[in-house]
Amino acid sequence: MKKLIITIAHTGNVPTKEMNAYTPLTPEEIATDIDECASLGASIAHIHARDQEGKPTSDRDVFASILHNLSARGTNVIRQLSTGARGGENTIAYRGQMLDLGLDVKMASLATGSSNFPGSINANSPELIEALALKMKENGIKPEIEAFDLAMISNAVYLEKKGILKGPLHFNLVMNVPGSISGTPRNLLYMVESLPPGATWTLTAVGKCHVQLISIAIALGGHVRTGLEDVIYYDDNKQLASNPMLVKRAAEIASAIGRPIASPEEAMKILSL
Ligand code: MG
Repeated sequence: MKKLIITIAHTGNVPTKEMNAYTPLTPEEIATDIDECASLGASIAHIHARDQEGKPTSDRDVFASILHNLSARGTNVIRQLSTGARGGENTIAYRGQMLDLGLDVKMASLATGSSNFPGSINANSPELIEALALKMKENGIKPEIEAFDLAMISNAVYLEKKGILKGPLHFNLVMNVPGSISGTPRNLLYMVESLPPGATWTLTAVGKCHVQLISIAIALGGHVRTGLEDVIYYDDNKQLASNPMLVKRAAEIASAIGRPIASPEEAMKILSL
């Protein structure tokens, strides 16, 4: 079977230490966690940043600090920055402020449509999507297209035709966020079958469907994301998860069915970086 890329989504915007004490919040904690996850098989880090109060931020200095901390540890992972709608102020300038940092950033997330989060809008206007996509292009960054429903796949194909996005496209199928497409095997297959030819894909499965859907994605030949951004519990008994525990389990599922894990260098080839 072809190699599996595991992405670690270590912090996200929602978890707090109160919800799960393993949540890494400071640049040092985040880099330490990513480093351990990399040693267990993660080849991409989907990086979110928090301010000094632990609130989500897109502040370029905080992102730079995380990246410098990774370099100091010699951590070899593909650096993927979040440009999500919950990272503070929802403007193009604010959400895209870290895209020209350099510092070996190779990827960034890009939602190609709008949807709902619990209690807020995942607001991504056409102007914002195009501006972020163009800034990524100017800085040699490959977007990971976050598709919270089918329409966002269609819109990404449209943006490729317009020349805003460049193929081969890479998708993150984000499932089971309350307010977006629910996390069922049927919906996963529907999303996968709706991808354009030549696209690569990873699965993000939030909450209770996490283990079931990442297992299916691994068996289907897709790639997977795991981490406290997606699940704070390890199992139905509400045992708290840590990022290394989650990466280790994803690698074990792959190992059980004979699917080898991609190194960062191999992941770069698979994703045409
Ligand atoms: Mg994210």
